Amino acid sequence: MKNLKLLLLALTLGTTTIATTQAAEPTTIQAPKQVAGYYHHQMGNTQITALLDGTNYLNPSMFKGLSDSEKSDILKKYAAKNDKGVQTSVNAFLINTGKQLLMVDSGAASCFGDHLGSIYNNLKASGHQPEQVNGVFLTHLHPDHVCGISNNGVAHYPNATLHISKIEYDFWLNPKTVKKLPKDKQAGFLSTVEKIKAALAPYEKAKKVKVFSDKSLALGDIQFKPSFGHTPGHYSFKLKVADQEVVFIGDIVHSHTLQFDKPETAIEFDVDPKTAVQTRLKHFAEYAKQGQTIAAPHLPFPGIGHIYSQDGKSYQWMPIHFKD
Ligand SMILES: [Zn+2]
Repeated sequence: MKNLKLLLLALTLGTTTIATTQAAEPTTIQAPKQVAGYYHHQMGNTQITALLDGTNYLNPSMFKGLSDSEKSDILKKYAAKNDKGVQTSVNAFLINTGKQLLMVDSGAASCFGDHLGSIYNNLKASGHQPEQVNGVFLTHLHPDHVCGISNNGVAHYPNATLHISKIEYDFWLNPKTVKKLPKDKQAGFLSTVEKIKAALAPYEKAKKVKVFSDKSLALGDIQFKPSFGHTPGHYSFKLKVADQEVVFIGDIVHSHTLQFDKPETAIEFDVDPKTAVQTRLKHFAEYAKQGQTIAAPHLPFPGIGHIYSQDGKSYQWMPIHFKD
C-alpha cells in the first residue's frame, strides 16, 4: 500500500515535471532537410531513376475552365489545399540500359530560383556521374526542362547529345516566331528564348544538338510520340522494356489532382490550350486502357506510376509504391 502511494506520488511528480518541461520548451522544431531526391525503379534489365529538381507551388488561378469552388473541392478531397498554391514536383529521369545512360528532361537549374535546381546534385547522389550521360531527350524547351543541361555556359553533360523535335526547336529559336505572337506575350517569350539559348549554347558549340522530325520516329530503344499542345513541338518518349512499356509523358499534365479529376482543365503555360487538352484526353485514355508505366515531370516525386479510369471521363494517378 505504502509502495503504491509512493508510486502514485512519483508518477504525479513525473507528470508534473514533464508538463513543466514541455511548457518551458520553446517550439523551435524546424522542418529538416530531406535526403537526396532520387529513386530507382527497376524494369527488367533497365533501371529508371527519378531525379527531383525541387517543389513548385502554382497559383490555382493558372488552371483554366474550373470554378473556384470546383478547384477547392478537388484539392480538399486530396488533402492538397495549401496556402502556397497547388504543389507540383519538377522531376527528370535517367534511363540506364546497361549500354547507355540516357536522360529525359533536365530540370530548371538556376532559371527559377533556389527552390529548384537540384537535379545535377541528385544525379551524382544517385550513383551516376554527369560524364556518363550519353543522350538527353527534351520533351520540350520550357526552362524547367532545358535549363538543367548546363550552368553558366558550361555543359553539365559534356558527353551527351541533345535530342529535340524540329518543330519545338524552330518555334523557340526562329526569330520570326515572336512577330506572330500577341504584343503582350512577346516580352515573356523573348526572355524564355534567352534562357533556352544560354542552356543550349555549349552543346551548339560542340555540335551536339540533334533535331528530329516526324520522319525519324525512333532512336535506338527510344520511340518518339508527338504530344503537341502544351508547346507546339512537345514530344513524349516511349521505351520498351521486356514485355512492358514506359512512357515519359512530359508536360501533358501538371497536377495529379485538378487535371486528373477534370482532365479538360488547361494550364496557363499551355501555348495552345485546346490542343493540350485534346492530347491529354487522348493519351490518358490510351494509358488507362493499356496500362503503361508512366514517368511524369510534374507529378509528385518520383512521378512514376499508372493512370487509371473507371468511367473514361475522370482519371486517377496510381503512384508506384516504395521498394527497397
Ligand atoms: Zn514543365
